[in-house]
Amino acid sequence: MIKEINYEVPVIEKGYANKTLYINLETLEAKIEDVTEEMKEKFIGGRGFDLWLTWKYIPKDKKVKWDDPENVLCIASGPLGGTTNYPGSGKSIVTAISPLTNILIDSNVGGYFGPFLKFAGFDAMAIQGKSDKELLIFIDGDNGKILIEEAEDLPSETFQLGRLLTEKYAKDENDKRNISVVSAGPGAENAYMGCLNFSWFDGKRGYVRYKQAGRGGTGTVLRNKKIKALVVRKSNVNVKSNNPANPEAEKEVAKRHSKEITELDPKQNDMRNIGTIHLIPIMNDFDLLPTKNFRFGSDPQSEKIGKEAYYKRFEKGPDPCWKGCTVGCTHGVSSFECKTGPYKGQKVTVDGPEYETAAGVGSNWYMWDPDNVIEVNFYCDNYGLDTISVGTGMAFCMECYEYGILNKERTGGIDLTWGNFEGAMEVIHQIAKGEGFGKIFGKGIRYMKEYFKKEFNLSEEEAKLLDDIGMESKGLEFSEYMTKESLAQQGGYGLTLKGPQHDEAWLIFLDMVHNFMPTFEKKAEALWWFPMWRTSFGLLGLCKLPWNDIVPEDNKEFAEGKIEKYGMRAPEDIADPAKVPEHVLNYVQYFNSVTGKNIDSREYIKMSERMYNFQRVMNLLFVPEGVTYKELDSIPFRAMGPVTKEEYLSREDKYYLKELKEKVGVDPTNMTIEEKMAAIRKYREERYEQLKKAVYERRGWTENGVPTVEKLKELEIDFPELIKLVKKHQ
Ligand code: SF4
Repeated sequence: MIKEINYEVPVIEKGYANKTLYINLETLEAKIEDVTEEMKEKFIGGRGFDLWLTWKYIPKDKKVKWDDPENVLCIASGPLGGTTNYPGSGKSIVTAISPLTNILIDSNVGGYFGPFLKFAGFDAMAIQGKSDKELLIFIDGDNGKILIEEAEDLPSETFQLGRLLTEKYAKDENDKRNISVVSAGPGAENAYMGCLNFSWFDGKRGYVRYKQAGRGGTGTVLRNKKIKALVVRKSNVNVKSNNPANPEAEKEVAKRHSKEITELDPKQNDMRNIGTIHLIPIMNDFDLLPTKNFRFGSDPQSEKIGKEAYYKRFEKGPDPCWKGCTVGCTHGVSSFECKTGPYKGQKVTVDGPEYETAAGVGSNWYMWDPDNVIEVNFYCDNYGLDTISVGTGMAFCMECYEYGILNKERTGGIDLTWGNFEGAMEVIHQIAKGEGFGKIFGKGIRYMKEYFKKEFNLSEEEAKLLDDIGMESKGLEFSEYMTKESLAQQGGYGLTLKGPQHDEAWLIFLDMVHNFMPTFEKKAEALWWFPMWRTSFGLLGLCKLPWNDIVPEDNKEFAEGKIEKYGMRAPEDIADPAKVPEHVLNYVQYFNSVTGKNIDSREYIKMSERMYNFQRVMNLLFVPEGVTYKELDSIPFRAMGPVTKEEYLSREDKYYLKELKEKVGVDPTNMTIEEKMAAIRKYREERYEQLKKAVYERRGWTENGVPTVEKLKELEIDFPELIKLVKKHQ
């Protein structure tokens, strides 16, 4: 132990500990600071507090890069986080400058760390600086102690480390449930796509389990700072721990929402038995399941990695990642025997796979064996690698291999033919060892594109192909949905703060299947409301799934104002079935009952909009000189339409001929395939630019995508330094 800090554990008041923790790894300075009323009013909590702490500590006079010591890694819960009777209330929110994008990444994750951190006394923690030796930080919320310890001798792999630290810091067997560990792994040390594993002890099964803050390389930042793990202990967490202002009102809305999930989930998605895997057949049926690097949207083999495969493999029954979540979608596989790597021949437990992993490394690699998907999932978690970036990155490499842009000579002897499990696993093991092609791969698609162009002496045509098929935007790999036929979702991926991750907006069904937003204005409106609404989950410490993965049976009638429920009617601003207005009102009541405030659905959105704009402006600190948001908000053409003839022909009859005639205004009869593809491309690229313009306008941003001074004033965040930044970039 190299430093001990004693503190008084505060009593939680209306969802807040009212303190934050800052640790500088170079000076070993620790600051425990008060949360002010203004902070709560403007920044709310969770991601808002993370951003506020980053803003407070980041230098404004230099372009801080992800691996500079000044980068701030923050973790927070939120005022509703840690509630044990409301579904989906245990999320932690991580932020840092991302190694993949070099702007802020935010990642929302289950496991017990965030809630325990709050109940141990801190609404948020910020870590800055870089240590020269391996460290571990232990926050003992039972005894009011923070210990900074040397950690040179500890293993790096998550599955060993989590178990070892849970045993070490628990007072006895029973106390293991009061420990949560955050760690990364050896992959995160050698790649930009390192994830963080957030643990909890599963008392029923008797082992440590994990959820991942996957996106954007927050695990890479942890390891770059030379932190092996963060550990927190807090015992006796129960329904009273969050100390809501109005427990009766909180209990009433929690009971209502929980009961509905228990009754309707078995009829709608059965997430308590199959989790998000239920999406595989749905995405396949609607031609949205990414297949062969987002070339196609469905395949007859998809059922092999779908529900039936995992019903057989997952343990039965609800499996929550935080106490009291009635969705309980966090499933895993026990006694799984590995075929490769250091655990070859050994039985391990695996958390997952979830939909994103199954689609990302299954259909997108054209690999249809569910056990192969499980093994990739296990090693990615163990090494601290984001399965989405690994999935999308490997699909890109497999397509390059098909075209001869990659070959055995260039991969160091690894065969990356479609679906080749052994080849892909070899790359993943190489990342953990920091060697070979794995080292290049781990830096992500944006890096690989430039590396391939430079090192392999590619032709102009090949270089252009890489730009079209490398599925990244802002440097972040796409999550696993096909956007080709949905302009709104192209915006949902491209016009985001952090890069193409579906947690900001998921509009494919509304746009493509139901055609609910035929005009640019309607799409822009959706690309305002939904990202703002979804931002609220990160501010409050919540999971998004209970909002719209299970919906009331009379959702449509309620949204259309035909019925009243629980003394409520859908107000005009949310009178839309896609917004699930009853649930929106539930969350407003939940928020008011915990914090003692009295806001409505419009004010609820405004608090998110404030944070959304704050993050957008703060990112200007990190965007390289001369680069505009307009450029950063672009997406590769494969996200908009067909890049290859094969892709074009697979959907010509369904979409493209009609589009050429009715939208582009040409007669395709005598056109060559190349001419038809060029016409579709021109039309779609123009429409994406038109959408960008409409969205910027709706969000109150300039034509360069920067929030205006008026917008900052309206949102009451017109701080002089923010105004200065905005003016410089308008
Ligand atoms: S819905 Fe699933 S992911 Fe969300 S909190 Fe509940 S168990 Fe965790």
